Formats: sequence, C-alpha cells, structure tokens
Amino acid sequence: MGNTSIRIRLTIWYGGGLALIMLLFATSLYLVMSRALQDQIDNSLEDAAVAAARSLEEHRFGPFLLLDDLAQAFPELALLDKFFHIYGPQGQITLQSANISTRNVPLSDTAMKAALQGQATYESVRLHGQVPLRLLAYPIKHGDTLVNILRVGSSLRPVEKMLDRLIFVLQIGSPLAVLVSMFGGWFLAGRALRPVDTITHAAQRIAAGDLTQRIHTTSADEIGRLASTFNDMIARLESSIRQIRQFSADASHELRTPLTIIKGETELSLRKERTPEVYREVLESNLEEIDRMSRIVDELLFLSRADLGEIKIAKEPVQLDQLVQEIQHQALVLGKDRNIEAVLVHLEPTEVVGDEWRLRELLLNIVDNAVKYSQDNGTIEITLEHNNGMAKLSIQDHGIGMTTNEQTMIFDRFFRTDSARAHAQKGTGLGLAICKWIVETHQGTIEVDSTPGHGSRFTISLPLHSQA
Ligand code: ADP
Repeated sequence: MGNTSIRIRLTIWYGGGLALIMLLFATSLYLVMSRALQDQIDNSLEDAAVAAARSLEEHRFGPFLLLDDLAQAFPELALLDKFFHIYGPQGQITLQSANISTRNVPLSDTAMKAALQGQATYESVRLHGQVPLRLLAYPIKHGDTLVNILRVGSSLRPVEKMLDRLIFVLQIGSPLAVLVSMFGGWFLAGRALRPVDTITHAAQRIAAGDLTQRIHTTSADEIGRLASTFNDMIARLESSIRQIRQFSADASHELRTPLTIIKGETELSLRKERTPEVYREVLESNLEEIDRMSRIVDELLFLSRADLGEIKIAKEPVQLDQLVQEIQHQALVLGKDRNIEAVLVHLEPTEVVGDEWRLRELLLNIVDNAVKYSQDNGTIEITLEHNNGMAKLSIQDHGIGMTTNEQTMIFDRFFRTDSARAHAQKGTGLGLAICKWIVETHQGTIEVDSTPGHGSRFTISLPLHSQA
C-alpha cells in the first residue's frame, strides 16, 4: 500500500508540475506570438504609411490624388492585404483604394484628435459580421498645418487564423504531453520502487525468524545503500543473537560442571558411613566448587551490568607506576609456590585518568594469568613506558602461550584454550572480557602477542593524564 501510494503520489506530483509548466509555457507562447504578429502588422502599416506620405508630398498635396500613380510608385500600397483612405484635414474622405468597398470604417474621434496634434494612432476594429482590422491613422503635415490624414488598414484575419491554429495545437499537445510524461513517470516510479518491495519481502522473511536472509542488490544508488545498510544490520543482529546463544550455552555449561562435581561427590560420600576426615575433604572440595560458581556468577553479573551501562567509572588521576609496583608485589606472592619471579624491567613515572580500583582489577587479572599460565620457575617481565601520548604497559611471560587463532578469541566470554584448561584447572574464561571492558572504558587498547610454548605478552595502552 505504502509503495503504491508513493508511486501514485509521485506520478500526480510529476504530472501536476508538468501541467502547470505547460500552462505557463502555452500562455507565454500565445502572448509572445500574438504580440509579435501584431508588431509585424503595425510595422508594415507604418512602412506603407510612410511611403504613401512621401508620395503625397511629391504630388504637392493636390486635391485629386491619383490612386494609379500612387500604386505605381509604391507597389506595396496596392497589395491586396492593405487598403487606405486619405482624409482631408476635417476628416472628409478625399481618396480611397479600390479594395475598400467592404471595409467602410469611419475615422475614429480618437484618431482624428491625435492627428490634429500630429500623432499617429493604431487601432484594432472588429465590426459585427466583418473582417477584424488593424488601422493606422497617420497625419501628413506641411509645416505645422495638417494637410491630410492617411489611414492604412490591414486585415487581422491571417493573424487570428495563425493564433487559432496555435491554440489548437497547444490544446491538443499540452494534455497529450502531460499524459505521456505521467505515464512515463508512473513507469519510472514503479521501476525505482521495485527494490523497496524486495527489501520489504526480505524484511518480512527476517521478521518471521530467518536471520540468514539478505537482500541482493548490485546498484550503488540510495536504494542499494539502504539494502546494504539493512544487510549489515541483519548480519550484526545475527551475530549478536549467535553470541547470546553461545553465551547462554557456555554459561550453563560452566555452572553445570561444578554443580555436577558437588552432586557426584556428595552422593558418593552419602552412600555409606564415612570417617569425619572424608566428610571434611568432600566438604572442602565442594566449597571450592561453590567458590568457583560464585566467582562465575559475580563476573557474569559484572559483565551484564557493564553491558547495561550500570557500572560507574571514576575519572581521577591515577599514579600508574605505583599501581604497577603494587601489582608486581602481588605477582611475587602469587608465584611464590611455583617459584615464579616477577621483575620490573622499566618503570616510568606515569599518570593516567580513571578508576584506580578498576585499573587495579585489570592489572591483577593480567598478572594473575601470567603467573597461572607460566611454567614453574618462570619469569614475568613488566615494563611501563610512554609512547605517543600513551602509557604503554607490557606484561611478558614465558609460559604456555597460544596460537594466533586462539589470540583472536581470548577476549570472548568463557573462551579458554585447551592448553589453558590442561595447564590450570582454575579459571572462568571471563577475566579477559572484563579486562577488555575496563581498558575500553578508559579509552585504551589491549593487545596480545603470543607463541605457543614460548609465552605471551599483553600490552595495555592508556592515554596519559596530560593527553586525556
Ligand atoms: P581464565 O580465567 O581462564 O584465565 P581469562 O579470560 O583471564 O580466563 O583468559 C581467557 C583465556 O586466555 C585463558 O583461559 C587462556 O586460555 C588464555 N590466556 C590468558 N592469559 C594467558 C597467558 N598469559 N598465557 C597463555 N594463555 C593465556
């Protein structure tokens, strides 16, 4: 319906606009033409009058002018389409051309008065049942005295005929042109709007649940751009929905594992009477799993609140070098059991703007991973320097590392590499997702560079306070 009505509206607007233009065009054409034709007649009347006046002067204003002489000297006077009268100074006829009999039009008062004042007058006359005429009354003076009034006349019929023909052509041609162009407009609007139909149908199929649908377009015009924007939107939607499904599946799986362990161990221990030590062991193991579950739930809650924009981030100056020093101490504590060393290779005094608590959480997570995925007796190198207005913190370990493909996924929720699962039981796969969120809310970036079996380097860049 929308499509059809746009088409109709376009056609009506188009046709209406064109009709208006045609009307204006036809009217001006008619006016210009009639004006030009009348000017033409007036000019030829004037030429004839001037010629006749000259001839009259040559005849020295004798009372009996000879038409034949006049016609001989000025053949244009004898042309059939013109006739003339010569009036005396009181308005009495003294001479008239032969073709005058049916054109007996008296000299008007206006023309007489104007002639007395030495002025020529043009008049159009239409007497009932007679041919329409154009008349020029032309005074002939000798010194200051009015000697004769020469009136030259011509039929307006050829002009009227021509104008009638013009009107006829315009009357038929204009509506025809409007009709043809409206038809063309209708056709073109239909063609232009056809892709909209395609988009609508695709949208309907998508609305029915098929997110794999895409609109096929090859054009790069407005509609083509709309279609590709639409396709992008659906692709994003599809990927978000896939992520959400994956996320729910992963979350249930991660929560299910500890639950299964708790259930299994509890059932097993309840099968027969056990010593208090065995119960204690079971309870301790269960507590560990419960801790793990509550950590997952806490981290999930954090991420979903972050997604909803509910987490406020402070914007205060933070002495990053101090923070890094504290984190290095924590790394030493974390790595003590496995004899993992954490060293500060370089530490530049650095101030950034942000939330100290969140930044501490971020660094702790990265350092905790570095310790967790290091080999026993390994070393972790920490460097803090400045680069292009950014604080650049890198944490290098020499642990299990990861493949290039894995590096692209470690910031996804619940993603853990197989080697990480084999190496360290603990871990939720949510830590780096939280890290990424913290870095990005501080207008920074986090990157990883890693080689399987050789170690990983995480590089965090944050704008320096002076730049922020
Ligand atoms: P986890 O709780 O499993 O450590 P994270 O989100 O912190 O979850 O990390 C996601 C995954 O990224 C880890 O499971 C591991 O596979 C990989 N990873 C993170 N840090 C390192 C590292 N320093 N060395 C090797 N792999 C790492």
